Amino acid sequence: MLAYTQRPSNSSTVLRCCAFDKKGSDCEARVFQPERSGHTLCLNQHHEYKKLYKSYKLKHEAYDRITQINADADTDAKKNIETKIGLGKEALSLRNQVNRRFFSTSQDNRSHVHEILRLQSEVDDLEEKLRKWEANCKGPAESGTARGTSNQEPELVNESPQAKTTDRVWKSLLDPTIPKSRLGSFPSDNPIIAIKDFLTRNTKLVVRELYSIVPSLNDSLSPILDEEASNIDMKPELDIRDIIIRFVFREFLIYKADSRELLRATRAQTIDSFLQESFIDDIEEYIKFFKAFVKGRFDTFWFLRDAVCDFLLDSQPSSTTTCILGVEIAMENAP
Ligand SMILES: [Zn+2]
Repeated sequence: MLAYTQRPSNSSTVLRCCAFDKKGSDCEARVFQPERSGHTLCLNQHHEYKKLYKSYKLKHEAYDRITQINADADTDAKKNIETKIGLGKEALSLRNQVNRRFFSTSQDNRSHVHEILRLQSEVDDLEEKLRKWEANCKGPAESGTARGTSNQEPELVNESPQAKTTDRVWKSLLDPTIPKSRLGSFPSDNPIIAIKDFLTRNTKLVVRELYSIVPSLNDSLSPILDEEASNIDMKPELDIRDIIIRFVFREFLIYKADSRELLRATRAQTIDSFLQESFIDDIEEYIKFFKAFVKGRFDTFWFLRDAVCDFLLDSQPSSTTTCILGVEIAMENAP
């Protein structure tokens, strides 16, 4: 039977609290009542966990209670959507915190991540709905401008007075997921174009550094089709070890459980397209992880074990799987 790793597995760490504190450091305290099965936290973190758990449940329930969001041109419905988005974001932030601090070493991590992704996706849909509504209310004169308000992403920092009264965050033009082609309305000597070029160049350099440490991650190149091919952009034929290492990367994204990053990963079909749209800080974190992985950390074994497990499971799309970087991953814990 394939089962995801229970972490940590070595006996010397069993009595130590498995939580991270608010700053992300390991809690050094001892587990409260370690003789009782399932206890993995110290007393302080146990209270903290219960408090956060209760808060996110209350926020999520309040979010679920708002159902009147479809009445066209009804200002109350618009207000309802805004309130629902606000509650959804608060619930997400709390759930992310709970996941990051208390479930990073638990086999229950995946179900939590699945829930977070579901909520994040719903909140994104609500934001899209609200944006379309606002574009319609403004009328064609305003919505058809170069700002492209009828396109998919709300990509501009909205400076209107109404925008300042809401909690919504508009994507910056410098967000790596916004391609340069979307900046077409700016003159070529505008500073924003120069900054965008600079960031894109740097992203490519950092991605290249990652590939130099873990060549298996590079899925952007064409496989070698014949012996004569000497193009340096060609790569050797993919073997099973490369595939497993790619699963290790997926395991890391699930482990990290950053809802924004994961949601992007569910939409990206290749690792390279995902990386090219990642923030440089995040790529540097992947580099740090793989450098440690290459050296062999205490947790290298379970990353590898889970990667092999996911590879062998070969999950088919279903309600309990999520597509991460083009491959279905089981998000329910194995029995
Ligand atoms: Zn603790």
